[in-house]
Amino acid sequence: MTEEPAYSPPAALLEALHSSRRPLLIAHLSPDGDAIGSLLAAGMMCWHLGKDPVLACQDRIPINLQFLPAQESIVDVVEDDDVDLVLALDCSDRSRLGGVYLPRRHGRLPLIVIDHHPTNDYFGQVNWVEPAACATAELVYDLGVALGVNLDADIATSLLTAIVTDTRGFTTFNTTPRSLRLAATLTEAGAPLGRILETAFNNRSYGVVRLWGRALESVELEDGVISVVNSKRMRTDLNGLIRAEGLVSFLLSANEARIAAVFTELPEGQVEVSLRARPGYDVATLALALGGGGHTLAAGFTMVGKLTEVRAQVVARLRQAALTTGT
Ligand code: AMP
Ligand code: MN
Ligand code: MN
Repeated sequence: MTEEPAYSPPAALLEALHSSRRPLLIAHLSPDGDAIGSLLAAGMMCWHLGKDPVLACQDRIPINLQFLPAQESIVDVVEDDDVDLVLALDCSDRSRLGGVYLPRRHGRLPLIVIDHHPTNDYFGQVNWVEPAACATAELVYDLGVALGVNLDADIATSLLTAIVTDTRGFTTFNTTPRSLRLAATLTEAGAPLGRILETAFNNRSYGVVRLWGRALESVELEDGVISVVNSKRMRTDLNGLIRAEGLVSFLLSANEARIAAVFTELPEGQVEVSLRARPGYDVATLALALGGGGHTLAAGFTMVGKLTEVRAQVVARLRQAALTTGT
């Protein structure tokens, strides 16, 4: 079984990639399964083509993705002066590249963007952005076809993990017939669907479970907006743990909720805001206006401020969004 390409990489992208010997491939900070899966798959495709890529991501790979093949080759510091091209994966703007992108060194190199966020600001010289794709990995699959790379089990595993996580196990509204056909093709190529689903979703530390408990103590629901805070104080005994992974989607499962928000107090005076919405509502517009981005139903941003004040301000705007939009 094979899946026909749905999208075609721009000719300029193929040209730039063909003439690169050592591309720097970057997945976004606070990486998710699509960022890491797309990074690994693109990296392996480069290896197959005899290139010597650098795979980079500023932040730690989440525990539920640490089973992925070749993830040990991802670096969090780029000291290499030899890279000749930058390829950004699943990043909607330049800030998402994080500290592995060094403007002074990399700014003069060609920058290629492969992404599926509708909020993408086209920050590259070549921008391949397809908002209808369920994951950036869907485009990386089509890139592999265009490059004539053989779909081996490791590439298939990375791509399927990306698709499975970005569609939350094929439950999001951007899951398409093609997402499912691709999943079948990737499974046939050797990707272990059951193991991927199990590892991606039933895999959190006891610390995260305790953090969910503490954060849930702060839950509030106003005009369909459900929210919690995740404060530094809640995490003092949790060994450097920061994010209550998965909690924002859980919040939205409350019948009364139309929009869900988790406010995470970061170590240095910033608050990370993670948003989800039911179909018919939109959280991307507010996230974009506040310096972040994402998808209509899943978006986020980070802002400077005190946890309680950020919550109050943002919830007020979300209540507006929950009252004035929706079908
Ligand atoms: P998260 O809540 O972290 O799972 O993010 C949900 C969606 O919003 C993902 O598609 C992210 O890529 C996007 N997103 C989250 N934070 C930001 C940000 N600061 N800037 C741009 N996009 C973001
Ligand atoms: Mn992502
Ligand atoms: Mn994605």
